[in-house]
Amino acid sequence: MSHETVDSKNGIIIDVEATAGNVPDSQLYIKRIDYIEKNLGLKIQEACADSGYDTNLINQQLSERDINFYTPERTEQKRGTTEFQRKDFQYDEKDDRFICPGGKTLPLHRLNRIINTVTKEYRCPKAECKDCPFRSRCIGEKGSDKRIQVNIFEDIVKKNHEKDGTERHTRVLLLRQIWSEGSFAAQKSRHNLKFLYRRGLEAAEQQCLLSSTALNLKRMIKAMA
Ligand code: SF4
Repeated sequence: MSHETVDSKNGIIIDVEATAGNVPDSQLYIKRIDYIEKNLGLKIQEACADSGYDTNLINQQLSERDINFYTPERTEQKRGTTEFQRKDFQYDEKDDRFICPGGKTLPLHRLNRIINTVTKEYRCPKAECKDCPFRSRCIGEKGSDKRIQVNIFEDIVKKNHEKDGTERHTRVLLLRQIWSEGSFAAQKSRHNLKFLYRRGLEAAEQQCLLSSTALNLKRMIKAMA
């Protein structure tokens, strides 16, 4: 898999790293950003990526680097099969707890470490849920208690998504569509990136670099003209 970074002014591919196909897209993102800033002497101010990169950790790490991050709009997905969703529970910031539709409290129960991030788990005790009239709408007949997971970087993600739908957000996403998607399409169709011709990661990276160089030369000539 070729992970490429493209500049938004002339579509020059400024960074390429080849990995095995099972490496998640988001795994390399921050590493490549740091590599570009350090080795090309660029201070990145804005970055755009598809929704596969819209992880809590990437949002948090880009925020630390003062980089405005743009990804497609997030729509809240319904989780689970029960009727009550997270938005039906009221957060009490003062006491760091949730209040459920039945008026019971879900205090902070524990912290969970999941891969590279941490979630706060709030839990309503079993005894409260046992005879609750909202039980079937909240936890289902088989559930025993209600738990809510909150990612500790959630506020940063929310803040980043406040830009959704703005003129700048639309513009940046359009540039990504033109330059990033356009580059991959051109490389696949006209610059030998549809198939690998030699085995091994090193050979794959050489092919990706050669393909990117060919496209860059064309774009540089166009930009200079
Ligand atoms: S099942 Fe538990 S969390 Fe859900 S509304 Fe009833 S008491 Fe509250």
